[in-house]
Amino acid sequence: MLPSVDEVLRDGRVLHLLAGHPRQVVVRAVRKALAEERRAILDGVLPEGKVEDKTFFLDVITRKTLENVDRTVRHKLRPVINATGVVLHTNLGRAPFSEGAREAVNSVISGYSNLELDLDTGKRGSRYAPLEPLLVSLTGAEAALVVNNNAAAVLLALSTLARGREVIVSRGQLVEIGGSFRVPEVMAQSGARLVEVGTTNKTYPDDYRQAINQNTALLLHVHTSNYRIIGFTRETSVAELVELGRAFSLPVMSDLGSGFLVDLNRYGLPGEPTVQEVVGAGADVVTFSGDKLLGGPQAGIIVGKSRYIEAMKKNPLTRAIRIDKMTVAALEATLREYLDENHAIRTVPVLQMLTAGPEQLKEKALQLAGILSESVKEKASIYVEEDSSAVGGGAMPTAVLPTFVVAVCPVQMSAGDLQEALRRGEPAVIGRVREERLLLDVRTVSGGQFQMIAKALAKALDKTGEGAAV
Ligand SMILES: *Cc1c(COP(=O)(O)O)cnc(C)c1O
Repeated sequence: MLPSVDEVLRDGRVLHLLAGHPRQVVVRAVRKALAEERRAILDGVLPEGKVEDKTFFLDVITRKTLENVDRTVRHKLRPVINATGVVLHTNLGRAPFSEGAREAVNSVISGYSNLELDLDTGKRGSRYAPLEPLLVSLTGAEAALVVNNNAAAVLLALSTLARGREVIVSRGQLVEIGGSFRVPEVMAQSGARLVEVGTTNKTYPDDYRQAINQNTALLLHVHTSNYRIIGFTRETSVAELVELGRAFSLPVMSDLGSGFLVDLNRYGLPGEPTVQEVVGAGADVVTFSGDKLLGGPQAGIIVGKSRYIEAMKKNPLTRAIRIDKMTVAALEATLREYLDENHAIRTVPVLQMLTAGPEQLKEKALQLAGILSESVKEKASIYVEEDSSAVGGGAMPTAVLPTFVVAVCPVQMSAGDLQEALRRGEPAVIGRVREERLLLDVRTVSGGQFQMIAKALAKALDKTGEGAAV
């Protein structure tokens, strides 16, 4: 005998839910639970003698209602605290915005904007108008276009320049990026034919030269952004491809992946080519992400020679992968930070975090450890250790950034259970576990989050005995 929706809604635990959630959400959760139980009755899978037991059903339905509501809440997109030290964590939303980018987005979303209106002429304008001059002046390219993400940028470029024709790529550069971006598959999608040359570890200019024929449309260089081939290697550089391209009147494209505008060598990070360098080497088309090392919103930035960029702008695909006003606002603001490199290092969070020095990180870790020691009482021991963080986001795979972590060694639970409890907490705190200790890397944590971490940690340590309870 099933209870009615109203009867379930009068249950104390459900009333409690109603205080914190919209009535419709709770009612839907009750109906779903009732439907499941009705099915169980029809299927005859209930425990012996329970079919007539209303109290039994009320209890089951209430419990399922709580679970259903919890599930809808759990899947909510919300801020988390990234204590992994991985600066560009794709699962955690990649780059946090600079203050300027946040303000710019806020100012255009709360009302109307001149997104496609030229305020000087009163005529229709281009949404790319604020971005193109900035990208041109920052990269030295002739023209620029921005689409939804770099995968889309590569797709658009290939489809525009090489549809139905051949694109030559080195076997050592057939990259797969997380989330199923694979160069051969993007190539197939674009309608271009992939011609692989060379071997995994060595590809010479001659390999490209021999593959060139009247069907060749493009020479493609893909930056091996998330892996390195080391040892007995030979890569054909963009500059060498440009030389070949000139000889055969073929355009050269470089997919940089995580293009950046600042030479991070100066800050002790591995030397990777900047967008300016690749443009300077003569590449006709260069593509890179907005939310990797650039530290802006998700976007695919395309810079290069006007004739190719203009052709891409006319491709109908561009309309399907265009960016919205929030992206325009955030990217414009982020690019403005780069007009002064020293300014960008201070204001773009990704650059701040990447260039944070050991001394600064040590001080931060000691401060966090002090706060945590007070809040965990006897439930864990806390200490500060030297460690290293990764760049992440498929960038600088071999870079090891010296850092300091706060290690939490719980007394009554495993480090894995503590990690899970913190992840399921509010706000969620994401750390890593090593040798029975939970490590909180301060590189990706801001001082303003210390108190929140302390509270979350105290709460998570209280979960002892409940196992992996919610
Ligand atoms: C990351 C990356 C992409 C995909 O960029 P998204 O902005 O994530 O779509 C493409 N190519 C390379 C080489 C990359 O590193």
